Amino acid sequence: MKVIKTISELKEAISTAKASSTKTAIVPTMGALHEGHLSLISLAKQQAKLVVCTIFVNPTQFTDPKDLEKYPRPLAHDIEKLTQVNCDILFMPSVLEMYPDFPTPEKWKIDLGKAEFLLEGAFRAGHYQGVTQIVKKLFDAVEPNIAFFGQKDYQQVLMIKNMVAHFQLPIEIVSCPIVREESGLAMSSRNIHLSDEDRQKALVLFKALNIAKENFNKLSIEDTLDLSISTIAQTQGVELDYFTIADGETLEPITTKNATKIVALVAAKVGQTRLIDNMILKELD
Ligand code: AMP
Repeated sequence: MKVIKTISELKEAISTAKASSTKTAIVPTMGALHEGHLSLISLAKQQAKLVVCTIFVNPTQFTDPKDLEKYPRPLAHDIEKLTQVNCDILFMPSVLEMYPDFPTPEKWKIDLGKAEFLLEGAFRAGHYQGVTQIVKKLFDAVEPNIAFFGQKDYQQVLMIKNMVAHFQLPIEIVSCPIVREESGLAMSSRNIHLSDEDRQKALVLFKALNIAKENFNKLSIEDTLDLSISTIAQTQGVELDYFTIADGETLEPITTKNATKIVALVAAKVGQTRLIDNMILKELD
């Protein structure tokens, strides 16, 4: 695996590799890689000859400076993991490589639609401008045909699709299944901050999502929400930000079950760690 730190070196390595490859994939990450990330690389390897993983802890998408400061950065471990799954190129630029004027904020904005300001967008102002701007810069550097993201960050995938539509980029966006620990806890780089007790408490999020899934067809939307939310409320030390059942395309809370895709989404603080998770309740082809 080639490890590259500048855009110019990256472009050179890719153009050499592209001469013999038919398809290039990108898997953007912030590192501290776990099985969830590695599943994206494996899926990318199945669909593209050249797979570029990026590791960049993007400062502009963090709303809490403490969260940015304590974000784990186990680089040697990440390189080992990526080598094991046969990733071709690791791109890990510096902040100044991606934002030459940092910390002066970038002046451009992307129209991401109304959903930018819902759910995570409501709790983390400016988060999705930060996310989509860095992904656009990474797309510009790699010029991939296909990009892999996790359904774990459901709203993020939607925002990236909206960004791609906004710029009319010829890039296919693939949403990959959530990888969970055996307990059901969705894997996340932030899980490292959970104490044993927190880990136990965090399971209530998966439990509440399952309750929603099991009852969605039997009960009204309101009663389903009540059951899931009251389950979380019974767990001390879990502070709920939101639990919603939403239209899978607009993320607006649903009032009927007519939408073609319906998803339950949850965010909560467990101890000092904020976790998100989701589950698709209905999906028509
Ligand atoms: P992150 O490093 O947290 O920015 O995540 C990088 C990519 O990995 C994003 O597309 C995430 O949605 C995806 N990802 C994170 N956790 C999981 C998981 N448990 N299962 C599948 N994909 C994940």
